Amino acid sequence: MESAEALADLLRRIDGRGYKAYKELSGRSYELGSASLHVDTVQGDPFAAPSRMRLRVPRERAAVPASLTEGRIRRIAFEDFVARAVRDAIRRETRGHRGSGKSGRVGIDAGAESILERTAARVTDDFVEVRLEVGLPAAGRRVLGREAEEILQDELPAIAEAALHMPALSESEARRHVETAENHAALQTQLPAHGLVAFVADGSILPRESGASDRPAPDLAVPFVSPAELRVTLELPNPLPSPDGAPRDEVSGLGVPEGVTLIVGGGYHGKSTLLRAIERGVYPHVPGDGRELVATRSSAVKVRAEDGRVVAGCDIAAFISDLPASLGTTRDTRCFSTADASGSTSQAASLAEALEVGARLLLLDEDTSAANFMVRDARMQALVHPDREPITPFVDRVRELHDTLGVSTVLVMGGSGDYFDVADTVIEMHAYEPRDVTKAAKRIAVDAPSQRRRAERALPLAAPRGRAPLASSLDPRRGRREIRIDAIGTHALRFGTDEIDLRGVEQLVDPSQTRAIGLILAQARAWMGDGVGVHALLDRIESFLDGEGLDALGDRPEHLARPRRHEIAAALNRLRTLRVQPL
Ligand code: ADP
Ligand code: MG
Repeated sequence: MESAEALADLLRRIDGRGYKAYKELSGRSYELGSASLHVDTVQGDPFAAPSRMRLRVPRERAAVPASLTEGRIRRIAFEDFVARAVRDAIRRETRGHRGSGKSGRVGIDAGAESILERTAARVTDDFVEVRLEVGLPAAGRRVLGREAEEILQDELPAIAEAALHMPALSESEARRHVETAENHAALQTQLPAHGLVAFVADGSILPRESGASDRPAPDLAVPFVSPAELRVTLELPNPLPSPDGAPRDEVSGLGVPEGVTLIVGGGYHGKSTLLRAIERGVYPHVPGDGRELVATRSSAVKVRAEDGRVVAGCDIAAFISDLPASLGTTRDTRCFSTADASGSTSQAASLAEALEVGARLLLLDEDTSAANFMVRDARMQALVHPDREPITPFVDRVRELHDTLGVSTVLVMGGSGDYFDVADTVIEMHAYEPRDVTKAAKRIAVDAPSQRRRAERALPLAAPRGRAPLASSLDPRRGRREIRIDAIGTHALRFGTDEIDLRGVEQLVDPSQTRAIGLILAQARAWMGDGVGVHALLDRIESFLDGEGLDALGDRPEHLARPRRHEIAAALNRLRTLRVQPL
């Protein structure tokens, strides 16, 4: 550890020299008042990815109460809170752009609406640390030593002062943050005992600002009110303030039961918005998001059509059999491969893949489903004989999915009453308010049997056959680099020379999750082979991440956030080079 003076001396010495002179900083640590600065990497030029530095204060100095970091959930949420506080402090305490390229920019990879395990901040018994990006300043390609001094000697310590200790960090806000995450986890934990797959608290704000923004919709949103028939009350470990002043340690809302649940209703009445909130309910949300008390089983997977996607050796026989011969597509649907799936085959593959890694709740929306995958009505059955139709529609499998495999479904379906026969629960959204219309729907199903379709099931439903990915089919190399992985936003991942299209993976919410998936896949090659199926591989990956943490994925701190096993598998399955062996 060197002194602040040593840092000042170095920066003065290299002032005006070529940019490479900054490399001298690499690997060094400096004492800056009560904080220490560790320089991990130094960028090669002012336009390259900014330099990576860590700012750390001893835990004692940070004065963080032990209760805020007790247990995994609280620690992750507190780290998330610190990263956000540092992001705010950067806005206040830094001047930003000064010089060419990324000169003067200071950044941290704090998250958006979800609270995720991420590498941006680490809080241990010994220290509080944040990982920053710093654009070392230059005029053209000459070192701006004085400016660098200002950034490293003044701005970074100011950030540490403003956001790395109590009471500058608000204890009440930090507490609210960790308690919000803990409440969410507690709701999730209570779901199975109540026979539920999801919970949406009364008063939740579900709509978002826009299709492109995950922020809550302002003002006009109609708060969620559960229908009395489906209302349940769950316990909260951390009481919430209530309007009458007495803290509430329980919360009521819609309990979505296990089995088959249909969300019906007129167009634009809030069906997809409710489903989307349920999709996102696998993650905790920040206070103020509106979905803090929406909780979904962690094994929930959104399944949608995604024509054009690649499929590798997937068993889709439960839904599709006897495909006509076509170019570049295998005909055996027990082991279906294609470089260009159709709407229905892509949805069948995504569904089988979700089951393969352990999905216990499937979420489908008519808006993003293939019509012929979902249903074939009585008239179409009369015209096209089942012998000539390779698809067993989802309506004929959804009951078995639950009764045979124990997998529940929540389905948005405003366009077909054929699902009334197979649903356990029917919820109608009317002007953003849910109603329980199960009885009415069942009555209609019984009263109108003449229009009834015949069920089409060639064989009983079985779990899809497992697949073992081949390590040799994953190649993260590009150019001279052994591992070259770039997240392009949240929904595209460059893996070596391949680009994985993740637009259909809707429960991926953060570009740092995407980046982490790339590194995980590179790492996971070591565990493939010897008949290790996708499910076992994901178990292995999860235990590695549980034990070693995200930091173990890189040899220097990267901007990473923890993905779920389902999204890791989804990316693996969309790798164009993937080859598998059937198990
Ligand atoms: P549907 O799937 O039934 O056609 P959507 O869920 O897409 O309807 O919702 C239609 C519009 O209504 C969207 O712009 C959405 O943001 C908005 N919306 C959804 N829920 C609410 C609500 N509770 N309050 C206000 N607007 C809402
Ligand atoms: Mg919709």
